Amino acid sequence: MGHSQELGFDSLCIKDPEIDGLNSHLPPIYATSTFVYGDLDKALAYFQGNSDAYVYSRLGNPSVNSVAEKIAALEAFGLLDEQGQPLKAYGQLFGSGMGAIAAATAGILTSGDKILTQGNLYGTTNELFMNMLPNFGIECIIANLKDLEHIENALINDEKIQLIYIETPANPTLACFDIEAITVIAQNFGVKVVVDNTFATPYLQQPLKYGVDLVVHSSTKYLNGHGTGLTGAVIGSQPALVNVAVKNMQKMFGACASPFEAYLLNNGIKTLALRMERHCDNAEKLAYFLETSPRVDKVNYLSLDNHLDHALAKDQMKRFGGMLSFEVKGGREAALNFLRNLKFCTLTASLGTPDTLVQHPATMSHVKMLPEQRLQYGITDGLIRVSVGLENIEDIVNDFDQALG
Ligand SMILES: *Cc1c(COP(=O)(O)O)cnc(C)c1O
Repeated sequence: MGHSQELGFDSLCIKDPEIDGLNSHLPPIYATSTFVYGDLDKALAYFQGNSDAYVYSRLGNPSVNSVAEKIAALEAFGLLDEQGQPLKAYGQLFGSGMGAIAAATAGILTSGDKILTQGNLYGTTNELFMNMLPNFGIECIIANLKDLEHIENALINDEKIQLIYIETPANPTLACFDIEAITVIAQNFGVKVVVDNTFATPYLQQPLKYGVDLVVHSSTKYLNGHGTGLTGAVIGSQPALVNVAVKNMQKMFGACASPFEAYLLNNGIKTLALRMERHCDNAEKLAYFLETSPRVDKVNYLSLDNHLDHALAKDQMKRFGGMLSFEVKGGREAALNFLRNLKFCTLTASLGTPDTLVQHPATMSHVKMLPEQRLQYGITDGLIRVSVGLENIEDIVNDFDQALG
């Protein structure tokens, strides 16, 4: 695999390592909880810590590890380390995105530490930070991460802040945060940075380029790409952080990925580059249709120059992604009527599947938020969120057109 840096991103997505010398075309599903030691000497070597052989699938499984390595290679694609050598990244695969996020934060922080983050986090991440981690002595401070001076002052005034956690683009208005600028500030204070790269995927955005410590994924979404299973990933270039600190949390929380889900994920990743291009093409066209519709008040899509973060997204992303949201004229009732009228697109949460998924944040994903809090993050009663799929764009547009009435 020494030549992997010479391969293109799309080739890295497709090419699989030879795992066991049996010449299977695809990495097999190792449906086994344990691996035998082979002989007594190998068993003793393992227990003395002198062996990296597979022993137990919670600690490592070839189907799982090979996909973690593939995602790590994609996150590091084309990047150089401080010596000018190809950046080496390491990865761990988890049973879900939340497993990855929990292990990443627990691997970095200890009791007494604080997290600085944005208010518009993925719902369960927000719950983890605000409701669960405080039980373990870890506090979370919500801040406006667009205000760099505020971030710097927060770090000056509170040395307990040990982690800045960023999700960009963020749900559901596609607000973006400046990974590079925030990381520069964090590094000045020795503070770690974790970026949730679920919405962009490494095809559109590579946070490791800016020196962040860890990238986390819900690979349930675009990386799997077909909605066939849950997985998560933690990627970073520091082996002690990824392969020891985070890995230990995975081991103790039992947050490992199943070999079957890893297999599904690997199959999905093979078409990541192709799919992301099509997701972006379709989202741009749907955004244009909505932007020019008299039945729509506002469209949040990063390709539009009227999106507040258009310039930043253009800078730190390759294209603008497959997610958009828009406000139906007429508020809540009009938005719910739009959903009732849809015939072709799919009414459900989640994102990154081949079909177009549509949901209403105010009554669904963000229903537990207070109305004034929702408004603070641009979640009006008429807002619809769309994960634009891979279908024929005319069918998507026609369905939206008839459903808007
Ligand atoms: C879905 C999602 C998660 C959680 O991932 P699971 O795989 O559902 O555990 C975290 N962050 C973002 C941005 C997500 O969309």
